[in-house]
Amino acid sequence: MMEKLSAKEFDENFKAVSKRLSAALEKSGRKKEDIILLAATKTVDAETINYAISKGINFIGENRVQELLSKNESINGAHRHFIGHLQTNKVKDIIEKVELIHSVDSIKLAKEISKQAEKKNICMKVLLEINIANEESKWGFKPEEAVAALEEISKFGNIFVKGLMAIPPVANSGEENRKYFRQMNKLFVDIATKKIDNSSMDILSMGMSDDFDVAVEEGSTLIRLGTALFGKRVYN
Ligand SMILES: *Cc1c(COP(=O)(O)O)cnc(C)c1O
Repeated sequence: MMEKLSAKEFDENFKAVSKRLSAALEKSGRKKEDIILLAATKTVDAETINYAISKGINFIGENRVQELLSKNESINGAHRHFIGHLQTNKVKDIIEKVELIHSVDSIKLAKEISKQAEKKNICMKVLLEINIANEESKWGFKPEEAVAALEEISKFGNIFVKGLMAIPPVANSGEENRKYFRQMNKLFVDIATKKIDNSSMDILSMGMSDDFDVAVEEGSTLIRLGTALFGKRVYN
């Protein structure tokens, strides 16, 4: 489902987001440069995405392979990330089209990414997705599995782990998710001290439209915003 958003609506949304972000940065004594604002562009048409880019959105993320492929050529500029669950058989379709895959949720997927990256003679940057609230419905490594998973992935030749990603319970308020953001930050810092090969804990991807303020206060370095920028959309 693609829906049109007027330039004025986007401008207003972006302004409101910037204001919320500034408040969270001020509250936590952090700087604007410390945070990447990524627009989650599912269901948003290429024209609207290009408009957002012209207004200063520098990072965009798709969460479905098919949708990424259908829009990719029509979008001008911006760093492209993949943020959704990725099936191993689709890795080859996106490997050269994105700079970062946020959603490595199994060793099998990491292995396939490394294999496809090797064929293209590149090193693919990824984040490990952590199922921080141990939700049955969610993808990702359990927090207690993360170190072992990273150690195994670090042996593959063409993949580099740049950090961690999490999607805490979506129905929760920001305050309810604060404990999960805090746990993610602790895991991120703990893993960084281990200095595991082929990894560096640079990116902590957490915080969405309803809770990014709290995520920023708790150490997020990359927020993924859909609704707050593009309005409520119909998901199919
Ligand atoms: C859609 C999506 C987002 C953005 O969600 P909003 O609540 O609309 O801001 C962030 N991350 C992922 C992985 C998504 O699929």
